[in-house]
Amino acid sequence: MSATESAIASAEAHSAHNYHPLPVVVASAEGAWMTDVEGRRFLDMLAGYSALNFGHGNRRLIDAAKAQLERVTLTSRAFHHDRFAEFCTRLAELCGMEMVLPMNTGAEAVETAVKTARKWGYQVKGVPEGTAKIVVAANNFHGRTTTIISFSTDAEARADYGPYTPGFEIVPYGDLTAMESALTHNTVAVLLEPIQGEAGVLVPPPGYLAGVRELTRAHDVLFIADEIQSGLGRTGKTFACEHEGVVPDMYVLGKALGGGVVPVSAVVSSEAVLGVFRPGEHGSTFGGNPLACAVGLEVIAMLETGEFQERAAELGDHLHRELGMLVGGGAVETVRGRGLWAGVDINPSIGTGREISERLMERGVLVKDTHGSTIRIAPPLVISKEDLDWGVAQLRAVLAG
Ligand SMILES: *Cc1c(COP(=O)(O)O)cnc(C)c1O
Repeated sequence: MSATESAIASAEAHSAHNYHPLPVVVASAEGAWMTDVEGRRFLDMLAGYSALNFGHGNRRLIDAAKAQLERVTLTSRAFHHDRFAEFCTRLAELCGMEMVLPMNTGAEAVETAVKTARKWGYQVKGVPEGTAKIVVAANNFHGRTTTIISFSTDAEARADYGPYTPGFEIVPYGDLTAMESALTHNTVAVLLEPIQGEAGVLVPPPGYLAGVRELTRAHDVLFIADEIQSGLGRTGKTFACEHEGVVPDMYVLGKALGGGVVPVSAVVSSEAVLGVFRPGEHGSTFGGNPLACAVGLEVIAMLETGEFQERAAELGDHLHRELGMLVGGGAVETVRGRGLWAGVDINPSIGTGREISERLMERGVLVKDTHGSTIRIAPPLVISKEDLDWGVAQLRAVLAG
């Protein structure tokens, strides 16, 4: 058995089968490239679902983490530590908001957003106790907790996990009329991905986010933007909402906020909203820990200059021009996305998304399929133009058969 085969066999024997990874076993990585246990190199065109926006082993992030590892890594929130205030202040500034509530994973931040919106609804909006409603979109992906999968429309993500948490209403994504009909006095929030990632990088119709902003304002409802995957540079802006000039009431952040080093997530909002919490009402042992704050601060510093956003915009335009040329030739049906983020719908007669991903792997490119015949392309923002072109050339070759 090869090193790859034995590693995969052991993983299958001793880990729950809740994933179906491509048959590659990564041993090291740098920038946009990963090296497997056999010494083969692969171009990473997934970037940990945007958790690796700044690339593997980014020097600034690794140095920030190392320096903090030598000082203090965990205090719990029972005590203050000397990186916490700066992290919260600078993150709030980056978001143009006032307050931050740090957590660890994306799902925890979404849970925090749900709890915040409900508390705000009861205490500020005056919604009768126990009746708060949150409006979400069909085909959403917000994480894997029992409450979050309760409002998923994906049978795989949801089946056999009931009883489900009530209090959510699902409307079609991109439909402002449906959104308006769903808003009532009991609605405390609308929770949306400004671009739906897992659904296949679905960009809503122009004017949708701005329309949701108007409706939520008119109905005294919080607009919560889950920018866990779309935010922090991926689309060519700090936030995907910016493409429509929209400022939500709350950002939910994760993935790239931890620089691919540690899990760091956060809810960022105004004092009027996050001010609803009193000591003891919410928390997390690891949330806002010194190591997370040190890495998160470096991520914020990198985003403050705008250079990564600019790079994602430029390389993204190039990527979409190149992918656009594949449409119409029979192999590719549609290409969607923004910045360095694309969903490519492959003609099912060429192969499933999984099959295309496996063929790309054989050519040294790693991507992830989603929903049957879609592949998702989201390389680290530090990828070179030459490597990006090479990756697209491999896709072209695979599609040519
Ligand atoms: C990944 C993701 C989440 C969940 O984040 P985890 O860190 O995996 O819990 C939530 N929302 C969106 C949009 C995501 O892409």
